[in-house]
This record gives sequence, C-alpha cells and structure tokens, in this order.
Amino acid sequence: MPSVNDFPLRIQRCYTEADFIRMQQTHKRFFLFITLLSFALAGIFLFIVFQTNPRYEEKSLTEGEKQSAGPSEQFAESQFTKRLPVAKNKVNPNDFVVPILMYHHIGVNTDVSDKIRDDLTVPPDQFEAQVAWLAKNKYHSVTLEDVYLHAEGKLKLPSNPIVFTFDDGYDDAILNAVPILKKYGDVGSFAIITQWPGTTSGSNTYATWDQIKTAMNQGMEIVSHTQNHFDGTNPTVTKEYVLKDLKGSVMDLKNHLGISSDLLIYPYGHYNADYIAAAEEAGFVMGVTVHEGAVVDPDVLMEIPRIRVHGREELKRFQNILWGAKHVSL
Ligand SMILES: [Zn+2]
Repeated sequence: MPSVNDFPLRIQRCYTEADFIRMQQTHKRFFLFITLLSFALAGIFLFIVFQTNPRYEEKSLTEGEKQSAGPSEQFAESQFTKRLPVAKNKVNPNDFVVPILMYHHIGVNTDVSDKIRDDLTVPPDQFEAQVAWLAKNKYHSVTLEDVYLHAEGKLKLPSNPIVFTFDDGYDDAILNAVPILKKYGDVGSFAIITQWPGTTSGSNTYATWDQIKTAMNQGMEIVSHTQNHFDGTNPTVTKEYVLKDLKGSVMDLKNHLGISSDLLIYPYGHYNADYIAAAEEAGFVMGVTVHEGAVVDPDVLMEIPRIRVHGREELKRFQNILWGAKHVSL
C-alpha cells in the first residue's frame, strides 16, 4: 500500500491541505461539543443549587413538628383579623341574643411596648368595673353549655343573658377573674389548651391543672381550646390532624378533670368546613368563633359569634360595643 510520500509533491500538498481542512472541521466539532457540554453542566448545576437552597423551598411543618409546637409557637389571637364567611345568610326566626364576651389575660401588663399583649390584657379593676356594670344593669351570666341547651330547646335562658369566656387558660385569668366573678355571683367559661397547663412561654403562664380544677369546683365552666392551639385554616393542617388533636383534648379534659367536654372555642377563631366536620366527628356540638356579634342561630351552632373585649377598654366603649352587638341582625 503506497504512503503519502510516494505521491508527487503537489498531490502530497493536496492531501496535506485536505487533512488540514478535515482537522479544522474536527476541531470545530470538538469545540462545539465542549461548548454544549458546558451549557448542559451549568444547567444541571443551577438546577441542583435551586432545588437544595432553602430560600427556594416551600416551608411547611411536618406532623411531628406540628405536634411538638409548644407555647412558643403561639401567636396572639389579635394578630389575626381574617374573617371567614359566616354560614348564616338569612335571619332565622329562632335566632336569639346572647353577648359572649371574649377575654384573654386578666392582669397587669408590665410591658406596654408589647402592643399585642397589652391588647389581650384587661386590668382586674377594669374587668371588675365591667362585671359590676353588667350586674347593675340586670345582666345574668350563663355558661356556653346553657347557650347550647337553650338553642336545643332544653333550657330557658334568664333575661339579659351574658357569657364571660377566657381563651388559652392563662393563670392570671383564673387567679384574678374567678374571685371577681364569684363576688358578683357570676360564672365564667375558661377555654383550655389541654397540652399546655403549667407551662410558661415568654410572659405567658398557663394555669396548672390544679388551678383549673379549683376554678371548676368553684362553679366555672371548662371547655376545649384544642390540645395544641393550631391554626385550623393552615393548609398543612389536615382533617386527620384536627380530628386527632380534638379527640386528644377531650381525653385530656376527661383524664385531668373528669368532665365530658363537647364545647369548643376555635384557636384564632379560624376554622373551615373540614374543621367543623372533624370537630363534630370528635363529639363537639358547638363551636365558638371570633366573629363579632351577639346573635345565635340555633341552626348554625358551630359558628357562634363573640364580642372581643380589648385591654384598656374604657367602660363607655365597652357599653357601646355591647349595645351595638346586641342590636344588629335581629
Ligand atoms: Zn387561643
């Protein structure tokens, strides 16, 4: 077989030029391949970075994290102004009026720069002024159970009924409100987060089971405020989770106080259709919200309205809010 050198020089040069051209084409293809490979590797690198960087992750709680979320996870309820649509859209001839007052802390807020805490805290003297005014104006306090029984036609409420509710089970509410209520012959309803008694979080201290039991033995009503104070409308909270928590709160109240609780106050006043279904499945017959109002529709017992009492509320304003809530919708 002849080699290139056996051909005339002109032919050799032709071969050499052809080789050179082929070599150039090969180099071009090689560089094109390297360029494409670089783009592909850069794309893969960026994809991995975006997938693993926490800034691009959807933050959601696992079931375990939700379960272990203690008092420190709690948000003050006044942070939530969201109002869910009220199921009631027409006046029921069986509607009746019961102002259900909503309190949290009854005490002295020492940190006035904490506006949320300040709003949730009614000083004892102001609370007593409200209770005294209500007594003087012939209001009669009843329990949430009384409201339920009246709605069911099993109990007749007294004239001018009113309910005092205290959310979260703070020790100051139990220690300061109960003596005042008893002084005026009144009853209060305390909503307990049943996994938190005896714990402390920041400036919040939750009453112990002993304190709660003492209040109950003094005639106060104890109802469920769930086991862990979860936000029922958080998309990560499933119906199964709600059911498990609510059944757990019923068991906690049974175990610690020996009572069968079928009344629920929704944390943050947040709930939805799945939440109501789970609550009914857990045995609850009435759900209390933060919708402003005082009209109870016996057909909508899972969405009972209330009247929020803010910290440092002037008595005159308290009277006006009460009057306003009583005179709407009927
Ligand atoms: Zn609460």
